[in-house]
Amino acid sequence: MSKLFIDPKQPLLTCKAQSCEGCPVGEDVVCHFNGSQLIHFLFFMMPAFLLGGRAIFLSGIPMLLIWIGLIVGYFLFTEIRVMCSHCPHYAEEGASLQCWANYGASRLWKYRPGPMSITEKIIFFAGLALVMLFPMVFFIINTMWFDMILYIMIVTAAYLTMRNLMCNHCMNFACPLNIVSKDVREKFFERNPVVAEAWQSDIDISE
Ligand code: SF4
Ligand code: SF4
Repeated sequence: MSKLFIDPKQPLLTCKAQSCEGCPVGEDVVCHFNGSQLIHFLFFMMPAFLLGGRAIFLSGIPMLLIWIGLIVGYFLFTEIRVMCSHCPHYAEEGASLQCWANYGASRLWKYRPGPMSITEKIIFFAGLALVMLFPMVFFIINTMWFDMILYIMIVTAAYLTMRNLMCNHCMNFACPLNIVSKDVREKFFERNPVVAEAWQSDIDISE
């Protein structure tokens, strides 16, 4: 049976180190994932989807199915293509991702190290906005003002939690939400030459 997560002692396939022991970025960049991180992620993301789903359900199952289709199409396919395929975790072996978000999404495309293009960033944000703003229409139609305010608060809290727990440690520097410092990125590049080379042509890594 295949493991649920990659071996935490084993360097990434993009990494030239022989061992993760004593790695200078081991504390700053999360290269390995575990069940606890995944549960945390689901815990702070699920309330918004349940609340949004309830409002849409009140307008009929077909609408709910459309939203579920948007969620699946975006998080399991579109986002994987435009954003995750740039992530060093995407370069690992296996048919599906084993990370703290998008766990189980297929590796349908090849690994594409380096920055996202402008088009990819537009698709990334447009898709995210479509999925997250879709329930707003139904809060308004069903005059669920309290639920709407709660939804906005929960989405904001989930976003801030993600920024503080994940985006500041994420190895996918291509993601527009990534806030790993330039200093840490450079240390990661030293150990991951494949990633470093792909970034050489664009090199504003200070954003
Ligand atoms: S950069 Fe390489 S050595 Fe350091 S923690 Fe990540 S995979 Fe391990
Ligand atoms: S960018 Fe995030 S969600 Fe996508 S593969 Fe990397 S760690 Fe997973």
